Amino acid sequence: MSLRLETKNALITGGASGIGRATALRFAQEGANIMVADRHLAAAEDTATQVRALGRKATAIRVDTSVEAEVAAMVARCTSELGGLDVLVAAAGISHARYGEEGTPAMGPLAEKPLTDWKKVLSVNLDGVFITDREVARAMIAAGRGGRIINIASGAAKLPTPGVGEYAVSKAGVWMLTKVLAVELAPYGITANAIGPGFIDTPMTANLKNAEGFMKRLIERVPLGRVGEPVDVANTALFLASEEGRYYTGSILHPDGGVVMQ
Ligand code: NAP
Repeated sequence: MSLRLETKNALITGGASGIGRATALRFAQEGANIMVADRHLAAAEDTATQVRALGRKATAIRVDTSVEAEVAAMVARCTSELGGLDVLVAAAGISHARYGEEGTPAMGPLAEKPLTDWKKVLSVNLDGVFITDREVARAMIAAGRGGRIINIASGAAKLPTPGVGEYAVSKAGVWMLTKVLAVELAPYGITANAIGPGFIDTPMTANLKNAEGFMKRLIERVPLGRVGEPVDVANTALFLASEEGRYYTGSILHPDGGVVMQ
């Protein structure tokens, strides 16, 4: 049986950690070559090394996805080094879960929210995904062989989440961005879908996991009774990237153990 992403090239932002790294490795197991992009180059190199160990081509690149020129250069390298781009997984993002670490936005009600925190989250989680999608869409249209755009949103795109309002707004924005792109890019054979994970065990959520009583309260709200693993999201992305996912566009899929449906 042939591999599900044989001959495909994938760009994965946020590929140095968590969901992005798991997706890079899962895609590589299915035959894809990977451009691993992240603001942490050494960790991105580490993902790329693991991809190469699976027998695929991989390049690591340092990028801040909220900076237009860096994103344009990243996409240009996909063309020059991988020979084109078939799949984008836009996983680079920030949340409040690392509250207390330098540069992490504070949790708090919108009525007290500083504009700087609002702008910081929106600049990465929404502007960054828009810029990335736009550059990738241009490259895919120019290449004329279709493609798959997969944006990592969140269950917070649908669930009002007190204390992290700008995160929820950014993810709701990603979902609408995805739907507009789905309509606009359909004539080019390019699909655009979002993934809205529930709580996934990654470095992003490590602090929350250690907070007193947090996991017990969380798991009580998950019908399947456990938090997600990065590979649960990676498998969703794999489905959307593969031939089996070809008739999906403008959808949001929720690997979340049943939280959003309630
Ligand atoms: P993660 O382990 O922190 O990985 C995200 C990676 O993206 C990190 O290396 C991060 O660097 C990087 N990054 C952040 N901003 C960037 C930028 N502007 N340019 C380039 N790279 C950047 O987080 P994760 O849990 O895998 O999350 C991946 C995506 O899934 C995010 O969009 C997140 O919002 C979404 N998500 C996660 C969960 C969850 O429970 N984990 C649930 C729903 C949705 P830093 O470490 O420096 O930030």
